[in-house]
Formats: sequence, C-alpha cells, structure tokens
Amino acid sequence: MAKRTRSTTSPAARLEPYRAKRDFTVTSEPAGTAPPPPDGHRFVVQRHRASHLHYDLRLEAAGVLLSWAVPKGPTLDPDVKRLAVHVEDHPLDYFDFEGVIPATEYGGGDVVVWDWGTWEIADDADPIGAVETGSIHFDLHGEKLRGRFALVRRGPIGQREQWILIHKHDDASVAGWQTEDHPRSVKSGRTNDEVASAPSAR
Ligand code: MN
Repeated sequence: MAKRTRSTTSPAARLEPYRAKRDFTVTSEPAGTAPPPPDGHRFVVQRHRASHLHYDLRLEAAGVLLSWAVPKGPTLDPDVKRLAVHVEDHPLDYFDFEGVIPATEYGGGDVVVWDWGTWEIADDADPIGAVETGSIHFDLHGEKLRGRFALVRRGPIGQREQWILIHKHDDASVAGWQTEDHPRSVKSGRTNDEVASAPSAR
C-alpha cells in the first residue's frame, strides 16, 4: 500500500506554499480560495516565459493541481527524456489561467494555456500516493498531448525534486516531435508574445 499521509490533507492546507509565494493584490493569478468541485481529472500544460522558459504540467487530483515545471516541455517523442521539477500544488482555478504575471512577482512573465484535456492514472493507482512513491504513469487526452506518459523521481526527496518525464512507446508516440513547433494557446490561439502585448484581450 502506498503511504496515504498527504492524501488526507485538505486542499487548503496543500495550497499554503502556493499562496505564501504570491501577493494577490499584485498578480492576476487566482488565490484558490473557491471551494474545489468534486474530484475531476483535467490536465493542463502552460507555456510560461518567466526568467527561463518552461512548461508547467498540472494534473487535477484531490482538489488541487499537482504540478511539475518542465524546462523543455513535454514531447510525444518516446526516445526523449525531459527533466521535470516537482513544484508546489496549484489551485484548481489555475487550470485555464492565461495572462501576464507582473515582473516583480514570483514567476513574473507571460503564460499561455499550451494544452488541456483530461487524464487517467494507470492501474487505478492513487495519484497522491503515486507522487509520494516517486512514480506516476498516466494517459493524457489533450489537443496536442496524447498517450501514455511516465513521471519518475530521479533525485533526493524534498523541495524542487528532480523527476524525468517520458512518453511511452504507443500508438500516440511520434518520433521527432518538437514541442516548440506547437507554440500557440489552445484556449485563445495566441502566442506568448501576443499575450504579453495585450494581456486582457480574448
Ligand atoms: Mn511556471
């Protein structure tokens, strides 16, 4: 049995590290104070141009978005391993966040909703328990990302754990698939540059 210590922690408690890093009077990011709806299975990947470009992969589970920052982004190429840094859980209303985070704020930069859809964990595992054990296998049903992925912890347990993200060899894998060939938002069709120049336009 996987350890269940953190699965019993409330979404509000899990989101304390997220809130502690942000000033919600300055940033337009959600504070995550709305009560979470019944457990869903959405996923989102945001293309985030902060001090360094990265892609944020978020999986909905237990009333929060489990989150990894992937510097080079996810790929459908099954022969490519991508570093994925485990970061703090995000609130569910971050799911469709697209806009500009002020430069003075944590993560300052522009964000587009690069992909979204639903996800399913493999083998009926408990998502929180799988993350605690350092290995989570799942299928994505997005507009760009499809098929079976695995995230596996590769370094010490603690803050900003280093994990590896891979796409398994399956019907959805595509040799040579380049993340940066598909830059536009699935929410608005915009690029990061377009969001940066008109953050509130839709
Ligand atoms: Mn980010």
